[in-house]
Amino acid sequence: MQQKAQQILKDVFGYDEFRPLQGEVIDHVLNRRDALVIMPTGGGKSLCYQIPALIFEGLTIVVSPLISLMKDQVEQLREVGASAILLNSTLSREAYSLNIQMLKNRQANLLYVAPETLFKTGILELLGSLQVDCITIDEAHCISEWGHDFRPEYRQLSSLRKRFPHAVFMALTATATPQVQEDICSILDINSGHKFLASFNRGNLFLQVFPKADPARQTLEFLQQFPDQSGIIYCFSRRQVETLADFLGKNGLSVRPYHAGLSDDARRENQELFIRDDVQIIVATIAFGMGINKSNVRFVIHYDLPKSIESYYQEIGRAGRDGVRADCLLLFSAGDAQKVRFFIDQKEDPLQRQVAFVHLDRLIDMAETEGCRRIPLIRYFGEDYQAERCDMCDNCLGGEKEKVDITLAAQKFLSCVFRTGQLYGAGYIIDVLRGSAAKKILSNGHQHLTTYGIGKEYSKKQWSHLARQFSRQGLLTKDLTYGSLKLTSKASQVLSSQEKVFGTLQEETTQKSRKTPDYSGDYDRELFTQLRQKRKELADAANVAPFVIFSDKSLIDMATFYPQSEAVFLQMHGVGQAKMKRYGHTFLHVIREFANTYNKGEIEKTPAPAIPRSTPKTDFKPRYVLVAEAYNNGASLKTLMAEYGVKITTILAHLYNYAMEGNKLRNEEFAKASRLSQSRQDAVIRAFEELGVEKLRPVYDAMNGRVNYEELQLLRLYYLNR
Ligand code: ADP
Ligand code: ZN
Repeated sequence: MQQKAQQILKDVFGYDEFRPLQGEVIDHVLNRRDALVIMPTGGGKSLCYQIPALIFEGLTIVVSPLISLMKDQVEQLREVGASAILLNSTLSREAYSLNIQMLKNRQANLLYVAPETLFKTGILELLGSLQVDCITIDEAHCISEWGHDFRPEYRQLSSLRKRFPHAVFMALTATATPQVQEDICSILDINSGHKFLASFNRGNLFLQVFPKADPARQTLEFLQQFPDQSGIIYCFSRRQVETLADFLGKNGLSVRPYHAGLSDDARRENQELFIRDDVQIIVATIAFGMGINKSNVRFVIHYDLPKSIESYYQEIGRAGRDGVRADCLLLFSAGDAQKVRFFIDQKEDPLQRQVAFVHLDRLIDMAETEGCRRIPLIRYFGEDYQAERCDMCDNCLGGEKEKVDITLAAQKFLSCVFRTGQLYGAGYIIDVLRGSAAKKILSNGHQHLTTYGIGKEYSKKQWSHLARQFSRQGLLTKDLTYGSLKLTSKASQVLSSQEKVFGTLQEETTQKSRKTPDYSGDYDRELFTQLRQKRKELADAANVAPFVIFSDKSLIDMATFYPQSEAVFLQMHGVGQAKMKRYGHTFLHVIREFANTYNKGEIEKTPAPAIPRSTPKTDFKPRYVLVAEAYNNGASLKTLMAEYGVKITTILAHLYNYAMEGNKLRNEEFAKASRLSQSRQDAVIRAFEELGVEKLRPVYDAMNGRVNYEELQLLRLYYLNR
């Protein structure tokens, strides 16, 4: 059966390989076993039920609350030659009865239906008279009151079990919380052992955070990298949406607003224009995006801070669904965090309030970390994320900041926490340190403390940055209900000068270096533009969205390989039999003309080599691969340091990542670069043999701290490549 599924993947959908878990899920479902599938937005949930639906003899019912999404999905399925129909309240009477007729005639493999339509009189009876092989519940978290989008009508879905005892049930969601997962399993009676949890790492999203200084200008500058490309900008309020959309429009950008204050018609129109590539940018409140699966969203900007790490992740997840690189920018300010806190504070239920504060805090951790942004992000979703660096975030590419001794600042801060009775949050402590004359401070008499006014050398912002590092390093804990800071035992050691603290200082200037990597990829821009134009013409004529015809990724493939024969055209991403038949002629014509003019021959697309699971699957090479390849081609460690402007330890970390994927590296330079005596080197190697290479600390300890980490990194590479 796997084989059949594989064949459909290529022939119908035009994809070469399954994404992680897709193959397993499909196999499982084809064996008529229920499944709960958890994948991040853009992870590829749809294929998990669409492929079985094309193999099953009977009908697959897909319940979805997202009516606009349904339409896209059905259109996309029809494009690849599958027979899908939908039933919901937006259909005209004629279209509705036509679809009912198709069902009765058993002409459909897939039925998309809104839950409220499903329970209308007559529908269940009709479906009961058909052979239903699979029931898929999309956005299954809507069934749980613990989910972020509970819908009461979803509860009724539990009754489907009895009605369709022979159908296999599949529930799909992108929500990761265990409580929601448990709820889904128990309400739909899915054996919780049948859970498929995909990695939440979306390797093609480039993550960036800028300190928010002059957001309108920052946005405008950022947008210059994306001429004609689609993107979404999220704002906190309707008013902000209007102002920003106006500003961008005045600056010549193609943009529309989207928020709950607009009429249904206006919202629908703006969304449609965006989906059809008639409008480049949507400025929206969070209300936008649930119901769209436009695959070529190339950037998402958070103009304001989202309210939680979950919302952030879901919103950036709307970018880059086609697997091509997409850019995510968060404009971050402490003031925004305060605003969100204020709103959370309005929540009545103390438990909910606490949960919301934690979700916000995690997001701030992500925004303020000096390390790889994926570490706090992916770990939040309960995943054991091991990579030290992803090479797809600003921190990984910007080179690390120098750590400095911040013991004195820590002592000032901690003793101020102590002297104010461990009753206050960071904001208050900072005010005392900076000698503020705020009413609250004066009325508490805190202007008489010895720590009053001893921290004027840092700005408020710098102090908050420091305070977060103290928390992260375990010097402070925070009371979840009141937000007050308390000292830990580690703090006493710092106060008594037994332990030093190292960390980073934030510069006062807010603009971070905008070192964005070159993600251009190597494809023919001119041909791409022509193909895009053709795609748009065809889409308009057929009244569908452009990405329904071909994704950006397909066009990029064509603009890379210049296919001129049907055989090579069929090798392009997303080209299956149906699309070949329908569009091959038209697109081949464009490519041949182009190739004649510019004298380009077609290039066979050799199947990509299997990529190990841990690497993000992207269309360009991650930094560590580039570094490693350059190294293997003879570049010395010194040259690489100079070229990338980073420390040797960074280069060594890149090489280690590469080696850990089973790749070989030139070895002679490692031993040569080591400054240790031969016998010491041997001792280190023995320690690696004994203790493993995953962690350096144990080896460091085994050598009694006498071999520094740089040496250990070098010798580890030597050891791995012997
Ligand atoms: P989700 O529902 O999980 O958010 P989708 O099912 O909409 O994600 O898939 C996201 C995009 O990825 C779609 O454009 C889809 O065609 C594409 N896709 C899915 N599976 C594959 C695959 N195996 N190879 C290439 N592209 C895929
Ligand atoms: Zn990173």
